[in-house]
Amino acid sequence: MERLRWDEYFMAQSHLLALRSTCQRLSVGATIVKDNRIIAGGYNGSVAGEVHCIDEGCLIEDGHCIRTIHAEMNALLQCAKQGVSTTNSTIYVTHFPCLNCTKSIIQAGVAKIYYAEDYHNHEYALKLLDQSGIEYKKIPFNRQRVAQYLLN
Ligand SMILES: [Zn+2]
Ligand SMILES: [Zn+2]
Repeated sequence: MERLRWDEYFMAQSHLLALRSTCQRLSVGATIVKDNRIIAGGYNGSVAGEVHCIDEGCLIEDGHCIRTIHAEMNALLQCAKQGVSTTNSTIYVTHFPCLNCTKSIIQAGVAKIYYAEDYHNHEYALKLLDQSGIEYKKIPFNRQRVAQYLLN
C-alpha cells in the first residue's frame, strides 16, 4: 500500500478526537495544522471543571446545548492559551463548522478549512468564507481505507 496521505492522517486525527466528545448531540473533532505539524486539537466538550453532558444530559436552551464548547473553538483556544499562532494554518474538522466557529476561524487567520461532512452549512457562514478568501473544501473521510492500514 502507498503511504497514508497527510490529509487522510489529519482527518483521521479529527475523527479520533471526535470519539472524545462529551456532548454527543454531535461528536465533532478538529485538528489545527501548520507546515504538516499538528499544533492543536479539540472536541465538543464542557468548560474545564464543569460536568459532562454524557453524564448529566445536555443543557438545552433554544434547541442548542449551551454547555458545550465546539471542537473548533476548543482547538483555537488551545492555541490562544499556549501562545501559538494560527495565522495561515489549516483546520481539519469532522463537520462543516457552525456560524460562530466559522467567524472565529476566519478571525484567527486560518487559511484553509477541510471538512469531512456537510452539516447545516450556514448561508452566512458560506458568504463570510467566500468574502475572506479562505479555502474550504469537503474531504470525505474514508474510514474503510484508514482501517485497512490499521488492521494490516
Ligand atoms: Zn450537550
Ligand atoms: Zn461551532
